[in-house]
Order: sequence, then C-alpha cells, then structure tokens
Amino acid sequence: MRTLVLGGDGFCGWPSALHLSAHGHDVTVVDNFVRRRTDEELGVRSLTPIRSLAERVQAWREVTGRDIAVVELDLAHDYDRLVDLLATVRPDAIVHFAEQRAAPYSMKSPAHKRYTIDNNLNGTHNLLAAVVQLGLDTHVVHLGTMGVYGYESVPVDLPEGYLTVSYVDRVGDTHSRDILYPTQPGSVYHLTKSLDQLLFQFYCRNDGVRITDLHQGIVWGTQTEETALDERLINRFDYDGDYGTVLNRFLVQAAIGYPLTVHGTGGQTRAFINIRDTVRCIRLAVESASDVSGRVRVMNQVTETHRVADLADLIATTTGATVHRLPNPRAEADANDLAVRNDRLLGLGLDPTRLATGLLGESVDIAQKYADRVDVARIPCTSFWNEGRRVAYEQHT
Ligand code: NAD
Repeated sequence: MRTLVLGGDGFCGWPSALHLSAHGHDVTVVDNFVRRRTDEELGVRSLTPIRSLAERVQAWREVTGRDIAVVELDLAHDYDRLVDLLATVRPDAIVHFAEQRAAPYSMKSPAHKRYTIDNNLNGTHNLLAAVVQLGLDTHVVHLGTMGVYGYESVPVDLPEGYLTVSYVDRVGDTHSRDILYPTQPGSVYHLTKSLDQLLFQFYCRNDGVRITDLHQGIVWGTQTEETALDERLINRFDYDGDYGTVLNRFLVQAAIGYPLTVHGTGGQTRAFINIRDTVRCIRLAVESASDVSGRVRVMNQVTETHRVADLADLIATTTGATVHRLPNPRAEADANDLAVRNDRLLGLGLDPTRLATGLLGESVDIAQKYADRVDVARIPCTSFWNEGRRVAYEQHT
C-alpha cells in the first residue's frame, strides 16, 4: 500500500512509519519539523539523542534496504503543495499525526492557544478538503485522544465513539439512534480533537470520505522493534513539563533521583498504551480499510487504565524513588473512575502489551542510559489552566 504518514518525524509518527515500512508499505513521511523548533522555544531536548529525519531514513535504508520518502510541508498552511503531493502519490492510506499534541503547551498563553487551534483544525481540514478536491478514494486514519470523552466518572465502560440514545417523540413512540459521545475537552488541545470529530462527521456524510479516528490513550515507552535496530533510529522521549506525558516523566524523574511529581491527589485515572502497541494499532487500522464505510469508524486505542498515584507508587517501588505531591496546574476532577471498551482493535488482533509485562524495565534502562542529558530545570510544569491554579502552585513551591 502507498501510505502517507503526516507528522512522521514525531514520537508516534516515526516508529509508525518504520513499522509500516517494515511490513511492506511504500511510506512517505510528511512533516514541517515544528516539533523540533518547539524544543528550541522551550529550551528542552528529547531525552534520547534523536537524529535529523534525513539521517534517520538513511539509516533505515542501510539497515533494511527499504526506502522512506520525505516531504517537508506545513499541513495547516501549504494547501497547494499538499494537493500536488496527494495528486502525485495517490495514497491508499493517510495516517494523520501532524497536530500540536501537548495539553499544557496549548494552555500556556493566548498565543499558544491560538497556534494550537490554527495548526490542528486547519491541518485536518486542509487534508479532508484536498482528498475531496482530488476525488481520492483514500482511507484517512487520524490520531485522536481519549481526552475527548472527558474524565468524569460515568457508570459505563466508555463506548467507541458513539452512544446509543433512545427518546420518545410526541406520539409516544420510542426511537433510538447513535450519536457522537458528548465531548468534554479539558484543554484547548483536547478541544481541537473534539472539533476534528465534527470535521470527520461532515466529510464522511457529505463526500463519503473513509475515516478512522483512533482515540488514543497516553503513550508510554520509547523503543519499538524497528527503532531498536540501530541507535540512529532511536525514538524521541519527552520528559519536560509540557510534552512529558505522565508515565515517561515519572521514569525520567526516577532515573535521575528527582521526586516523582504527582499533581493534585493523584486520584486521576487515565488510559495508557505502550508505543509498541501504538504502531501495531496503526497498521491494524490502515490494513482494515474495508471495514470502513458509511460512518466514521472510531476505535479506542488503549490497553489499560491506571490511577496516577498507583503509577507513581509502582515506579517508586521499582526504582526506590520518592513521591512529591504538588497542587494541580490543570482544572480537572481530583479523582475519577475510568473503564474503556477497546473491542475493535482487540477484534482486529491486537495483543496488548501491559505494564506488568516487563517493558517498564526497558524504559527505566533508557531513562538511566541518557540521564546525563536531563535538564532538571525543565521538569516542573510551567503551564497553568487558569490564574488561580498558577497562584496555588507558586505559593506551594
Ligand atoms: P509529536 O509532537 O511528537 O509529533 C507530531 C509531529 O507532527 C511532529 O513531528 C510535528 O513536527 C508534526 N507537525 C505538527 N504540525 C504540523 C503541520 N502543521 N504540518 C506538518 N507537520 C506537523 O506528537 P506525538 O506524541 O507523536 O503525537 C502524534 C499524534 O498522536 C497527535 O495528533 C497526538 O494528539 C496523538 N496522541 C498522542 C499521544 C501521546 O501520548 N503522545 C496520546 C494520544 C494521542
């Protein structure tokens, strides 16, 4: 299959591009490298020493004999070049990772909020409009987030995208239909993923675009079978207060003897997935395009749920680290329950990698190996959901 990977230089995109290439896909990576420039803006760098994209694809060619094409393009602002690229490649599948993906970064300032809205919504809309303009029968696979469901405790396992509601009309007849699960975004970033869903509904209904939206949990780990083949293929690993997701941040904190920072009560329950499963899910989604017609297919791309405080205790027990509780910079419930359906990806053959399977050790080893690259000043959170959260945090620290 000819497969475009938009955002293919990023944390999920790069290992997915390699995995697809390893399984015979003819892969073109598209990226505008904004994520590398954001590192410069924030004064941080990946824990792991990532190479330039040119070096990465050269190494992949040397190690496997397989080619990955590279196109530098801004999905949100280079519409005409996007159309030309799609007309040339005529991809069977397009995997769309190319969005600003950090909730704290999206809440940093009005400029960061506006950038996140502009980048994510324009990027997604440009892609859909270009596919329709060219009349392509391509399958669009988008990375969404579990965060669109919100984190209220609800008495059901979260369904995959749709909720069946029944209602009684004026003559007393009962009807039922599937509606998009009501979204409850907790940040401007999550808001863009919620709005992306409406773009998908519209283009699917109006133009018949075939779309899969993957509601992904928090990704942990860094290496996959393919990135581990050569040090030049290593994946990025973010640990800073904006981009470092909770479990990876704990691993780095433990590796350098910095207390694990739990925000609020730690009673927040979140959904997780290992990066090795992310890349498998992407391939399963891409290769099951024949299942997609009529409506947007939503799949929950998660393998397990954990309470943040339990994760901190697990890492503390495994590594001897201490735990430090801080006021929560986010406006969110102190505690929630979370249970999630993930039948669709399991049905396609996903065999989940769980925390208990020992891969935590691999991540601890990576964190320890590159611990001398950590800048401890970048670990604390510097983005706050509102002024009250900032004041409470600063008074405490
Ligand atoms: P990332 O920031 O590491 O990668 C995103 C890539 O997209 C970067 O290489 C960036 O340069 C590129 N990009 C951004 N805007 C672009 C544009 N306008 N044009 C071209 N390229 C652009 O993020 P990631 O962690 O790999 O996440 C990828 C996707 O998965 C995101 O959509 C994110 O919301 C979703 N996701 C990630 C996680 C996670 O834990 N990392 C969890 C759930 C969902």
